[in-house]
Amino acid sequence: MTADPYRTALAGTCARAIRDHCAFTIDTFGPGERLAGTLAHLREELAEVEAAPHDLEEWVDLILLAINGATRHGHGPDAIMEGIADKVAKNMRRTWPDWRSVSEGAPIKHVRGSHD
Ligand SMILES: [Mg+2]
Repeated sequence: MTADPYRTALAGTCARAIRDHCAFTIDTFGPGERLAGTLAHLREELAEVEAAPHDLEEWVDLILLAINGATRHGHGPDAIMEGIADKVAKNMRRTWPDWRSVSEGAPIKHVRGSHD
């Protein structure tokens, strides 16, 4: 079986960044699941993205909080990277509606019934 270069690249650089981020958050914010606090922080960061959608740092805040939440609920860096790659592959197999048929403010959801 040939290694998937997409997965290999993700597994290396990104998993290292996740490990560094996890070590930082445990040292700085302590242990524990912190679900309510993490979700409250995500809501605040969503508002910051709405106010400044072209600011990359605001999008990164969302990504880091999501990673922090996943790691605090038992998912390590390698599992997160596998999860991302698996979900991208799953989304690519799914059937999607014509994006022109969905209004700008509505989510574009896959067609139910296959690859759910
Ligand atoms: Mg922010």
